[in-house]
Amino acid sequence: MFVHQRNGSIEVICGPMFSGKSEELIRRVKRAFIARQTVQVFKPAMDDRYDSHAVASHSLQKMDAIPIRHSREIRDLLDPAVEVVALDEAQFMDEGVVDLAEELADRGVRVIVAGLDQDFAAAPFGIMPAFLAKAEFVSKLQAICMVCGAAANRSQRTIRSGGLVLVGAAEAYEARCRHCYEKPVATAKALLQDPEEASMPFPPKLAEG
Ligand code: ADP
Ligand code: ZN
Repeated sequence: MFVHQRNGSIEVICGPMFSGKSEELIRRVKRAFIARQTVQVFKPAMDDRYDSHAVASHSLQKMDAIPIRHSREIRDLLDPAVEVVALDEAQFMDEGVVDLAEELADRGVRVIVAGLDQDFAAAPFGIMPAFLAKAEFVSKLQAICMVCGAAANRSQRTIRSGGLVLVGAAEAYEARCRHCYEKPVATAKALLQDPEEASMPFPPKLAEG
């Protein structure tokens, strides 16, 4: 073969809730384990749906993950021999994670990033646009629209309150296609500025430190 294969890249798995991002991340990480690679999986500490030290999919597949509150913690916890770094729910991570992923990929590490590409107001979510721009490989997944059964690319918030941080599953969100999606009254930006006034709260960025 004349193809010169060099290691180190960024892969993004994105899409709405229920599109199978966690399942796909788990599938890729399992294969890396089978290939006897050194793998570390990180997730934001705030996402404690189902299990705080695991990535859990809505179909209840599971995988161990290290909960972190800031990109600095990933740096501190990195195994010097790591070959694959996986990040789940990356939309809740801070900007330092993007720079860290670039450094790791430059050093030869395979970085796999899973996260929501749009928030519930259908706006680009946190650091995900930066990751999408920088990634070598992007898998954009769809769920099934709960209204019409078409391919769904948006997450519809289905309840009107529940606290500022609402990292939820089936009881608070459902997958919708472009046509069945109804835009929330308050935008995510307005909610962040005045959460008290907001009828449809939005998970804020993680606090520093
Ligand atoms: P994500 O990480 O993108 O939220 P998960 O990997 O956690 O997705 O869950 C995907 C699983 O969710 C599917 O395999 C299916 O069992 C379940 N599911 C529930 N609602 C839907 C839906 N509307 N469309 C597709 N899958 C759904
Ligand atoms: Zn639809």
